[in-house]
Amino acid sequence: MSDINLFTAARAKKSLGQHFLRDERVVQRIVDLLRPEEGDQIMEIGPGPGALTALLRPLPWKTLLLLEKDDHYAAEHAARPLPGLEVVAGDALAYPWERLEGPWKIAGNLPYNVASPLMWDIVRRVPHLARAVFMVQKEVGDRLVARPGSRDYGALSVWVQSFVEPRKGFVIGPSAFSPPPKVDSAVVVFEPIPERRRPSDPDSLSRLIKICFQQRRKQLQGILRRALPQTFTLDALTALGIDPAQRPETLAVEQFQKLAEELFSGKNHAEKPRLS
Ligand code: SAM
Repeated sequence: MSDINLFTAARAKKSLGQHFLRDERVVQRIVDLLRPEEGDQIMEIGPGPGALTALLRPLPWKTLLLLEKDDHYAAEHAARPLPGLEVVAGDALAYPWERLEGPWKIAGNLPYNVASPLMWDIVRRVPHLARAVFMVQKEVGDRLVARPGSRDYGALSVWVQSFVEPRKGFVIGPSAFSPPPKVDSAVVVFEPIPERRRPSDPDSLSRLIKICFQQRRKQLQGILRRALPQTFTLDALTALGIDPAQRPETLAVEQFQKLAEELFSGKNHAEKPRLS
């Protein structure tokens, strides 16, 4: 396979999750899923030696922002200036996402060790995410799109689906990368959902789902009684048509959102009879 990178790759750093794409068809499919249009603002996370960047550079975007933690690759990209191209050398986990103004499309073959916390941040904090296409470990892709009742449904599914509609693009085996990872990868696409379907209080939702999915096989009433003795009442569940004996993994995304409001927004008064 010919070298599809913008410049020669250095020795891959394991600590930065460096597995570089070597199959141009895969890279083209990622770019197609991003649906780039004239005048777009596009960010690429972790461009590395630039397999994806090479296909993005000739497109008629307004801004192309490359965010790369490896100083070596950030410097290589910065040495190839274009009008509207910005290179940020830094950690995506510390990026000030709120600063992105207007609609942004974001793409990246994400480092596997930081993909979940990164996507957790992006869906909540990017003010106007127009579209995102991420390559992640297949198992993480399964969790992103999982529906209630399935083995893969968890806090990441509920959180991400509260802000975007994630859908599986395609699955890729290890041979598409150099060095090859030990697991299969999947490309997922995030499409925005209407504002009214998003959580009114994301902090409460985040707190609730972290509590619930630590004990996914237990009954909700037991989990909440123990974790939130001051705020939990049976009424909070029954008011939402939730059976107190249900397990967290069976609750729909909207039910988690409403339960978080009910438990933490002050609607659930202390005078209500407690379960204990
Ligand atoms: N885009 C290239 C490709 O597809 O061949 C490289 C992908 S490689 C899986 C992940 C890239 O993310 C590497 O270039 C790595 O240096 C960079 N990276 C790792 N951790 C990062 C972080 N926390 N913030 C920004 N970039 C990071």
